[in-house]
Amino acid sequence: MPEPIAFSTQAAHAGRDKPTPSLSRPLTAAIHQSTVYAFDRLDDLDTLNPDAHSYSYYRYGTPTHAALERGIAALEGAGGAVAASSGMAIITAALLALAGAGDRVVADQHAYGGTYTLVMEELPRLGITATLVDATNIAEVERALEGGPKAILIEALSNPTLRVSDIPALCRVARARGVPVLVDATFASPALIRPLAHGAALSWHSVAKYLGGHSAAMGGVAAGDEGLVRAIREKITRLGGCQGAMDAWLTLLGLPTLPLRMAAHTRTAQAVAAFLAAHPRVMAVHHPGLPAHPQHALAHELYPTGCGGMLSFELRGGQEAVRQFVARLSLVAFAPSLADVTTTVSYPYATSHFGLPDELLRTLGVSKGLVRLSAGIEDPRDVIADLEQALA
Ligand code: PLP
Repeated sequence: MPEPIAFSTQAAHAGRDKPTPSLSRPLTAAIHQSTVYAFDRLDDLDTLNPDAHSYSYYRYGTPTHAALERGIAALEGAGGAVAASSGMAIITAALLALAGAGDRVVADQHAYGGTYTLVMEELPRLGITATLVDATNIAEVERALEGGPKAILIEALSNPTLRVSDIPALCRVARARGVPVLVDATFASPALIRPLAHGAALSWHSVAKYLGGHSAAMGGVAAGDEGLVRAIREKITRLGGCQGAMDAWLTLLGLPTLPLRMAAHTRTAQAVAAFLAAHPRVMAVHHPGLPAHPQHALAHELYPTGCGGMLSFELRGGQEAVRQFVARLSLVAFAPSLADVTTTVSYPYATSHFGLPDELLRTLGVSKGLVRLSAGIEDPRDVIADLEQALA
């Protein structure tokens, strides 16, 4: 290459030369922020040469995304994994990969409000209908699976009332009819359950929750067999739902501590649930780790190491009681997400389930007195002390 003669040319190209090959590699994954990749030869494009593996444009993926996807596939025991800009982007892409106009999907009514809105309001505009079921009622699910729906959506542990999906039983009845089971495992993470091992076709997560773990990374991931993952990836790239490289990298930073954090979240939640269950201001506590939970035995079987950090509880006195409780909290923040390292509370009626029909909210148990709590990794005694003074 001729030496540039002008400073402006030198400046434009400064630091952009090909990296010197190195015998070593960064120990932690690198952030690849470049939106485009330069090629020496036209035939190195993988669209022209099926044997080439090359990155070309950020929206199709970068080495940072590939590192995250390899990590997630390993943790889920999957043939592949794909990342997207959010949990909703992942499940939208998955549903569009599986269903089109004239098709139907089945969904558990006990789910994140955004999933409900997607299947009940957005998909019908594209000609895809949905049948809502109570996924704990296997006979009802079997009836809904008749007629060839394209997928069934369930949550491993439901948001916000912590119902436990019997993933092996649901997969058995769905597989017998050739219907793929898509499991939102956001509340559990692969440290607690690996849905693919129970027969699910897809395990997906909002990474803003346990996978990232520090309320700093946005994104969604899905793991499944190579064919399904390829089809979802195609939708993500075509529809433009790629994750930011910085978010992918922040998610990667969360993975090594996932099992340690999940053990601590579980320990805190168990202690907080027991405290709340004995408190006179609390009418009900939903946590699968409590012996009084209707699916405690199933939870024990599917989650031998514990059920994670999520629980919800019903305060006597409805919205006014919740207002006073939130105002008095000090260590615990009112923050409408979950899975942070610190304990937080949320109010599903006005956040995750805002705007759902009143009758459905009643069926789901999302009342004006319901508080959702995401137990952090702190010492449970400090969390309980804050809750105690706020409830006093
Ligand atoms: N699934 C569950 C259980 C959630 O709680 C959320 C968000 O709160 C989502 C999915 C959607 O994820 P995202 O906000 O990353 O789109």
